[in-house]
Amino acid sequence: MNVVVVGGGVIGLAVAWRAQRAGLTVTVIDPAPASKASHVTAGMLPPGNEQLFDKPELLALCLRSRELIPSFMAELGEIAPAGYRRDGVLDAAFDEEALDSLDRQIALQESVGIPAERLTAEEVAKLQPAFGPVHGGLFSPDEGAVDPRFLNPALIKAVESLGGTLVRRRAVRVADHAVVLDNGESVPFDRLVLAAGPWTHRIEGLPEGAVPEIHPVKGHILRLTSETPLLGVTARAMSKGTSLYLVPRPDGELAIGATYEEVGYDESATASGAFELLTRASAAIPGLGALRFGGISAGFRPCSPDGLPLIGPSTLPDVYLATGHARMGVQLAAVTAETLTAQLTGTEPHASTVPFSPLRLS
Ligand code: FAD
Repeated sequence: MNVVVVGGGVIGLAVAWRAQRAGLTVTVIDPAPASKASHVTAGMLPPGNEQLFDKPELLALCLRSRELIPSFMAELGEIAPAGYRRDGVLDAAFDEEALDSLDRQIALQESVGIPAERLTAEEVAKLQPAFGPVHGGLFSPDEGAVDPRFLNPALIKAVESLGGTLVRRRAVRVADHAVVLDNGESVPFDRLVLAAGPWTHRIEGLPEGAVPEIHPVKGHILRLTSETPLLGVTARAMSKGTSLYLVPRPDGELAIGATYEEVGYDESATASGAFELLTRASAAIPGLGALRFGGISAGFRPCSPDGLPLIGPSTLPDVYLATGHARMGVQLAAVTAETLTAQLTGTEPHASTVPFSPLRLS
């Protein structure tokens, strides 16, 4: 079976790799693979977050992905370094309100069997000496992060190593079981997977409403660098009702994110984005100013009309959707790939994925 995937971000590439591994022939169409949110992402793989407190179905989906990630990354790591670390995530409370949030977080983790250790302020300071004064923390030893600078090239290599084709062109429209490219050429398909992030519904030739509108929510990531990593462990700094990602990489890069901005399709990285992240990060890490400036980038979280992922068949014959992962695309890439592969090969997907069928919005 000939599968075409439009969009080569982390979602499209993960689907393409796993589908090929299951014996399908896959072509990925993308003018610049992994250049958008999947390039910008912090790559956190956290144990849970406030979005999951009242969403049991999304929690179940995250848990399924969490189950799959270690083997997904190990297998990918055999092809090329995937930039995956699983040496724990620290949630640090910088005010009293954040301590309450940690209580809810620990209850959530205990209810689903995700190991969590409650830490005193002294224990947090010992684990992360660069932090300013904290009120307490939570350490989840089995969680981690993945570095997009490694993950995306590894996925591209994985797709190509199994004979997959990457067509570096823009898909303009869908017509008669083929995708028409910006150079006028057509790529025929038996099955089509649309995974073009917040551009998915803009592909022409699809009947009105067949692809729900995917709206972009912009986020900035700031990168600072030092000779040796300033932080020993991946962390979230929680204060004033918000949570800031602090993701150290082994080469000394510290990824700091993220802002949350409703500004349409404006992709530019701005001074105010940098200002917000520097202000919040330096409140958590007093010595931050000594780090070197590594750059700032912005990308769009792809958000569906109900804010939940769209994974599976659309109302159109042979057309599937894999988008709408919002803040969790990296975290949910493994389960999305598993689900689409099952559906494309006619096997039963995992039960946790059923509520995320795009047909719920039709
Ligand atoms: P994208 O990465 O946007 O990829 C879509 C692809 O489609 C692009 O490569 C684009 O070139 C292509 N495309 C568009 N139009 C066309 C067309 N017409 N033809 C062909 N190709 C097309 N998630 C986590 O799990 N953990 C995190 O820590 C995390 N941090 C984040 C921080 C920030 C600042 C942001 C912005 C996001 C973060 N996310 C995180 C979310 C995550 O990055 C996204 O959910 C994920 O990258 C979405 O992947 P995607 O493949 O669906 O979309």
